[in-house]
Amino acid sequence: MTTRIALKQTEQTPTSVVRINDRLTCGGKDLWITAGPCAVEGFSQLEMVSQNLIENGVGSLRGGAFKPRTSPYSFQGLELEGLKMLDEMRRLHGLAIVTEVMAIEQIEAIAAHADVLQVGSRNMQNFPLLKELGKIDKPILLKRGLAATLDEFLWSAEYIMAGGNQRVILCERGIRSFDSETRNVLDLGGVAVLKQKSHLPVIVDPSHAAGRRDIIPAMAKAAIAVGADGLIIEIHPSPNQSVSDADQALSLEMFATLMNQVEPIATAMNRSLRSPVNSGALA
Ligand code: PEP
Ligand code: MN
Repeated sequence: MTTRIALKQTEQTPTSVVRINDRLTCGGKDLWITAGPCAVEGFSQLEMVSQNLIENGVGSLRGGAFKPRTSPYSFQGLELEGLKMLDEMRRLHGLAIVTEVMAIEQIEAIAAHADVLQVGSRNMQNFPLLKELGKIDKPILLKRGLAATLDEFLWSAEYIMAGGNQRVILCERGIRSFDSETRNVLDLGGVAVLKQKSHLPVIVDPSHAAGRRDIIPAMAKAAIAVGADGLIIEIHPSPNQSVSDADQALSLEMFATLMNQVEPIATAMNRSLRSPVNSGALA
C-alpha cells in the first residue's frame, strides 16, 4: 500500500509549517489570520479593509474575484479586474493575497497575482483541478466540501501533495446539517481529528459555518482553543451593502473587537495572533 503523505507517519510528527510569503507562515507558533470581503467589489472597498487589517496586525487579505455562486444570475465576481485590485493591495501594503481558483484555466493568472490559491468547498473533489494545483509553487488553501467526510477531505489534500506541492492548508468551514439556525455546522471535533491524523495546518472559517455575524467571535475563540492554526473571516466596510454573504460579514469595528477577544485565547494556547505588517510595500 502506498504511504499517504498528508497523514502523520507517527503520533509525534509535528505540524508542517507552510510558508505564505516572506513574513507569514501557517502551522508554527504564529497563527495565520486572513480576512476580507466575500467578493472584491472595488478599489476603495479593498483600501478600507486593508487599512483595517494593518491596524489589527493582520498580514493577509482574502477576497473572491472568481465567485462560485449558487445562482448563475448572481454577481459572479470582478474576475481579472478584481484579481489586479487584490495584487495592488499586495504591492501597496505588503499583504499576502488569498483568492479562490475555480478552474484549471484560471490557475496561471491567479498564481501570478495571489500568494495563496483557495479551493472552495464546491471544488474540494474537483480532481483535475487538484492535480494541476499539485504542480505549482504556491500554497493551497483547501476548504472542506459541504458534505465531505474528514477522510475524503484528506484524500483531496493527498491529490495536491502527490503532484509535488506540499504547501497545503486545510480549512474547516462548516458542514451541512438539518438545523437552519446556522448556515452550516462548524465541526470543531473534526478540527481536533484532523490535527491528530494529519501534519497539515488546519484553519477555521467561522463566517461560512455560521452564516450570521453575531456568533462569529464565539466560534473564532473556540477554533483557536481547539488547536486551529488560523482563521479566515469575512469583513466589509458596510456589511449590509455586501454584494454576497451580507448576513455573515463583520464590520471593520466588529473585526477589531473579535481580534481583541481572540487574543487571550491565543496567548493561553501559546500562539501569536498578530503579525508584523506594513513594513513597507514590496518591490
Ligand atoms: C469563500 O470563502 O468565499 C467561499 C465561497 O467559501 P466556501 O467555498 O467555503 O463556501
Ligand atoms: Mn462568502
